[in-house]
Amino acid sequence: MRIRNCAVIGAGLLLAAGCSHAERQARTAGEHGAIKGRAQATRSPRPAPPPPRKIDCDRVKCVALTFDDGPGPYTARLLDTLKRNGVRATFFMLGENVGAHRDIVRRMALEGQEVANHSWSHPDLTTLSSAEVRSQIQRTQKAVKDASGLAPTLVRPPYGSTNKRVEHAIGMPLVLWSVDTLDWRYRDVARDTRVGVKEPKSGGIVLFHDIHKPSVDSIPKVVDGLRKRGFTFVTVSELFTGRRLVPGTSYSERTAPPTQVTASPPPAGSSAARPPRARPPAPRPPALRRPTRRRPGGRCPAPRTPEPRAARRPAVWPPPRPSPRAPDPPPENRTTCGPRAPGAASSAPAADARACLEVASAMPRERVTCPVERRRRRAEPGRSRSDAAFAQARSRSEPPGERSGPGL
Ligand SMILES: [Zn+2]
Repeated sequence: MRIRNCAVIGAGLLLAAGCSHAERQARTAGEHGAIKGRAQATRSPRPAPPPPRKIDCDRVKCVALTFDDGPGPYTARLLDTLKRNGVRATFFMLGENVGAHRDIVRRMALEGQEVANHSWSHPDLTTLSSAEVRSQIQRTQKAVKDASGLAPTLVRPPYGSTNKRVEHAIGMPLVLWSVDTLDWRYRDVARDTRVGVKEPKSGGIVLFHDIHKPSVDSIPKVVDGLRKRGFTFVTVSELFTGRRLVPGTSYSERTAPPTQVTASPPPAGSSAARPPRARPPAPRPPALRRPTRRRPGGRCPAPRTPEPRAARRPAVWPPPRPSPRAPDPPPENRTTCGPRAPGAASSAPAADARACLEVASAMPRERVTCPVERRRRRAEPGRSRSDAAFAQARSRSEPPGERSGPGL
């Protein structure tokens, strides 16, 4: 009986031990599951940025709005405006600004805005060594990728300042602009709006700065105005869809494709069987235009607005050379005596030096040079009476500071 009781008690103890072990296992498994779930909750809902859209900017009137030097305190409000209007743009950011606005940079990527590289600290890259240029670019690449999950594929050199060495050191396509709103200089909403709406052409790249409040304030009206003009808003990468962007090459706009000459073949045997040779399309202005070099010292200063396209090249090329310009005639209030200067309007004959002196004495305020007389005076130690009279008249007529020559 005692043995039996002991067996029952032992079985109970074992059961209890087994139960507690199972409970512990279940609890541990539950905790692990909860931890795993929490980890997934923090890691997985990282939404992916939308893919670039397929927009044929050869058929659609495209424009790329770009914003430099941010992100800054107004960038979030700008993103609100762009999102509300369904506009995609491109942000050329400074690496040194990214760390303080990582959430904004992440938001850009998630909302389909293009993140791009504008160096780390906005130096004039042409003043740096190649190693320093690479450092400026690569540090920013890392900062933007860490914040947004996307590595930029485009670089805009500060001030638009670049050269062959910088282009080679960057090793990525360089994006400049076709419209500079000069928003950094004027800080004027009305002006930013006017330029931003009127100046862009199809395929254009428009430069704004999202670190300036008036620039951000102007964007709703700029978007409205450009939309009324029939523009579609694209990122810079979307603007160049179908075109290969070459590393180390600068792009300031998407140019129209070359026009193709098509002619229907004439009927066989007709006099027009041999079609006239089609003229090649007229040479177009270079697609890769270097904008005005910006003045270092400001953030993105560019001192002048790009000229209208028509003004850049005259209708006749090469332009006619200007004819040699005739020398200016002497001023009306100056009397010239002596040998006639080439092209001079009038002068007294060289031989009539005495008449010249008479003219001079009659016009006491004028400068008169009579080379023939002067040579004669140097040759003769004594002066004639008329010379002395002339010198006296001249010293009376000229203020002291205007006197020239000893005694004259
Ligand atoms: Zn800049």
